[in-house]
Amino acid sequence: MVGISNLLSYDDVLSLAVGLFVLLFSIVWFNLKSGSNIDNENNEHDEELFKQPPPQEEDCPICFLRMPSLNSGSKYQTCCGKVICCGCAYAPLYDSQSNKVDNQKCPFCRTLWSDSDEEDDLRYKIRMEANDAIAIHNVGVYYSDGLDKYPLDHAKALELWHRAAELGYAEAYTSIGYAYKNGEGVEVDEKKAVHYYERAAVKGSTIARQNLGNNERRTGNMENALKHYMIAVRSGDANSLTEIYLLYSNGHATKDDYTKALSLYQKYLGEIKSDLRDEAAEADEEEYRYY
Ligand SMILES: [Zn+2]
Ligand SMILES: [Zn+2]
Repeated sequence: MVGISNLLSYDDVLSLAVGLFVLLFSIVWFNLKSGSNIDNENNEHDEELFKQPPPQEEDCPICFLRMPSLNSGSKYQTCCGKVICCGCAYAPLYDSQSNKVDNQKCPFCRTLWSDSDEEDDLRYKIRMEANDAIAIHNVGVYYSDGLDKYPLDHAKALELWHRAAELGYAEAYTSIGYAYKNGEGVEVDEKKAVHYYERAAVKGSTIARQNLGNNERRTGNMENALKHYMIAVRSGDANSLTEIYLLYSNGHATKDDYTKALSLYQKYLGEIKSDLRDEAAEADEEEYRYY
């Protein structure tokens, strides 16, 4: 019988062995490297996602205080496109004799408030032509609800939300996420819903942040749920404070976590509270409530 050693010289065997070793080493190295690339990508993704974002809205351009994150705490002006706080929207005007006058004007640009649907539509049209992301998003909401002169049209709503999102408006991403979550104008797609909620959350949307927290809680990832809720609380979301209390009650968060959440919420309140805003909320809670 002819053995392999008779066919191959010593040098051949040696180079074959070296070749095999190099091949094996390359396979192991490649796998480790691609694994660590995925780990790095995941780490970068988490690092960006779990950073405290800046507030979604700028400070009120009239009183310069932090804008409340609760919807009714700020008012969008269709005349100039400014978002002003509920306190400044409510604030009475005074004439030169210090008498209160009925405030019928935008507190920012002093344009008379619109008194008809036609005027509202015209103002929205002008704002949209000026690429005002909030106006574009709001009209999308009208189409998705099928309100008044905007017949129910989910495709049109999505088109407008994508346009507003490209202009950088966080809540437009939230609306797109909601459409994917509920299959409005698109097939239900949980992955895409999360993707858009995440884009909204890193831009400061507290609604999207709370949704992400709820998703994680439902799938049992309490650690991530807590992280999302904590960020939402610092951005002023009282519902997330309740969620953290529930996590603590059920043994998924510590007392320290809850204490931390409480102090973050207090800090937020310290930044947004004002006598004028309190006065507005007291006068009409539904219209001007801000926390
Ligand atoms: Zn203000
Ligand atoms: Zn105005």
